[in-house]
Amino acid sequence: MDIPEQRIQIAVQKTGRLTEHSIDLLERCGLKITKSRDQLICYGENMPIDLLLVRDDDIPGLVSEDVCDLGIVGLNIVEEKRLNLESEGREGLFKQIYELDFGHCRLSLAAPEEREYAGPESLENTRIATSYVGILNDYLKKNNINAETVYFSGAVEIAPKLGRADYICDLVSTGSTLKANGLTEVDVLMDSEAVVIQTQAPLGDEKQALVDKILQRLDGVLQVRESKYIMLHAPRSALAEIRDLLPGSEAPTVLPLDGTDDKVAVHAVCRENVFWETLENLKAAGASSLLVLPVEKMLA
Ligand code: ATP
Ligand code: ZN
Repeated sequence: MDIPEQRIQIAVQKTGRLTEHSIDLLERCGLKITKSRDQLICYGENMPIDLLLVRDDDIPGLVSEDVCDLGIVGLNIVEEKRLNLESEGREGLFKQIYELDFGHCRLSLAAPEEREYAGPESLENTRIATSYVGILNDYLKKNNINAETVYFSGAVEIAPKLGRADYICDLVSTGSTLKANGLTEVDVLMDSEAVVIQTQAPLGDEKQALVDKILQRLDGVLQVRESKYIMLHAPRSALAEIRDLLPGSEAPTVLPLDGTDDKVAVHAVCRENVFWETLENLKAAGASSLLVLPVEKMLA
């Protein structure tokens, strides 16, 4: 009897700010995908992994209800879902695995430019428009504020102009949308970025092994993004100082140089970005022939 192959489902935003980065990240993990005609599912060609393309708001629910094993979504959406479930007396069956360093934004309070804001107490007895009722109510409760939350599913920034709210609570990255609507950011409720979430439901050995493999590759992809391979020549006498200057590196490889005893070649993987200042400091310490190379893949 043929046992059907176990496949992993990963929920990814269908169209929006996170889509391109999410798919790019998975492709860097070695996944080749074909887009089906309806584009609800992308099938992995070379790995038993399928992508479910959905609205970002649905991703924590799909992972929590075990329809998908993993999901890539903004922390803002994860936190809102967690608080919504909590208010219904339920618990989110997902755990957060990695922060992905894209989709950066913040959930902020903003007010019409003429309104004075002197801290959370200024929100007392006001109306605040938001799509993030859970996070906003949690914030108001923690600050002991009585205010009315007015739910808007989108275009929250027009609520004050419509006379529907005194403040808004919405996602901000550059602030240009706020500015265009005559609003000023007055407080930040949370910082957000895209994260990987995983179901907490037991997966079975075969599926878990596959999830572990993709998470390990993801870890590698995230690490190499910042990592650089650095090569230089140095006098033996300066080795200790040079080693201290190499950013985030483990023990470097030290190799003899042909025809000289007092100079060596030093090779190191630096897990932080290497800036011009670092190179200049290395040179000042006696290093020469400095070379910085990008790292393509890494497996710890
Ligand atoms: P969907 O149709 O999937 O519901 P959406 O309109 O809710 O899409 P997008 O605007 O594509 O979602 O935003 C997706 C995520 O991108 C947000 O939840 C947030 O985590 C992140 N993001 C980053 N910068 C911003 C920003 N300036 N405004 C809104 N979201 C941002
Ligand atoms: Zn959405």
